Amino acid sequence: MAQITLAKGREKSLLRRHPWIFSRAIANIDGQPKSGDTVDVFSAKGDWLATAAYSPQSQIRARVWSFNRDESIDLAFFVSKLNKALAMRQELLVPSTNAFRLIAGEADGIPGLTLDVYNNVIVGQFLSAGVEAHKQTIVKALNQVFSDYPVYERSDVAVRKKEGLSQTTGWLSGQADSKIWINENGLKILVDIEQGHKTGFYLDQRDNRQIAAKYCKNKQVLNCFSYTGTFGLYALKAGADKVINVDVSDKALATASLQYQENGFDDKNYQQINADVFKLLRQYKEQDIQFDTIVLDPPKFAENKGQVIRACRGYKDINMLALQLLRPGGTLLTFSCSGLVDADLFQKVVADAAVDAGVQAQIVEKLTQAKDHPISLNYPEAFYLKGLVVKKSI
Ligand code: SAH
Repeated sequence: MAQITLAKGREKSLLRRHPWIFSRAIANIDGQPKSGDTVDVFSAKGDWLATAAYSPQSQIRARVWSFNRDESIDLAFFVSKLNKALAMRQELLVPSTNAFRLIAGEADGIPGLTLDVYNNVIVGQFLSAGVEAHKQTIVKALNQVFSDYPVYERSDVAVRKKEGLSQTTGWLSGQADSKIWINENGLKILVDIEQGHKTGFYLDQRDNRQIAAKYCKNKQVLNCFSYTGTFGLYALKAGADKVINVDVSDKALATASLQYQENGFDDKNYQQINADVFKLLRQYKEQDIQFDTIVLDPPKFAENKGQVIRACRGYKDINMLALQLLRPGGTLLTFSCSGLVDADLFQKVVADAAVDAGVQAQIVEKLTQAKDHPISLNYPEAFYLKGLVVKKSI
């Protein structure tokens, strides 16, 4: 096995069980590891630290598989990780849903792997050289733990390029209809695993949708960046008078309508609008249209550190407009899924937005990602989704 030796003092993060080894932390490589090969990692003093997957093109040059020297990276290793992840989730989720994130990469000890279960189909994203190299073994492990669940790959994501990998999709094991009905808190939701965003659905907002529902009874609700309208679905179930979903994806809005029909809601209570949220909020302001409850769940605005300032400007703009459109006593549920915009910064941006809006408001709840997207204490980067429930003063 090839060996990586770290530069002096660079073992600190590994001793804290953080799984990443950056290229600049490496002093020496013995042997000629290929992409995805397992390597031994040593400190400058020669102490064995970990086994890791080597990734020659990435700034994250290796990701740790194990801090236990006796552990081999084989079928039994992956089966054990899957079983542990499943056991943790069974306690957290059942019986509210039959769709959940089974593996959240580093936080579940399989760096670079995302696995989502939708009813009885598994969808995976293989985002690192290590999981790419072990793909067949991981699929075998899945077959063992979930005996007859088909496995579909959605590795059509740009981050693969950083690992020197091209984008790919397709069935890895078995086959099923690519449109899957799942059940979340008693609601029927349609997930398109081939054409939908990410692996098909935003499981991370499950708990927040239920929280949002509390603020929707007899209300007029504006659901911005709605995707397939799931916040709106919960709002209707809670007795909203009217839900308006806004998104730029016609396909997502069509799915929203289909879903609302399937759940038995009357189309006089909802409307799907294909529009740019930034523009539509301004238009509503000019027209003096107001709402009782507004959800802002935009896509990731900051992909890297260089984009954080621009991202904050975007957050401030939509939050300012939303606070202005709220009736007194109304509720704003505002989110940021940009990991690089931390919770404090996001709160400051929303506070700035309130100042610019000339609005008095208070935070009544602080929200985060659903529990099947765990935040490993050793890997705080796993925390990315932040939300605030903000009440406009009466
Ligand atoms: N709230 C959703 C997830 C939102 S993901 C849920 O709970 O499932 C972000 C969505 O924003 C995507 O569906 C994307 O199509 C949409 N989007 C991105 N930019 C937009 C814009 N400027 N205006 C309206 N929608 C936008």
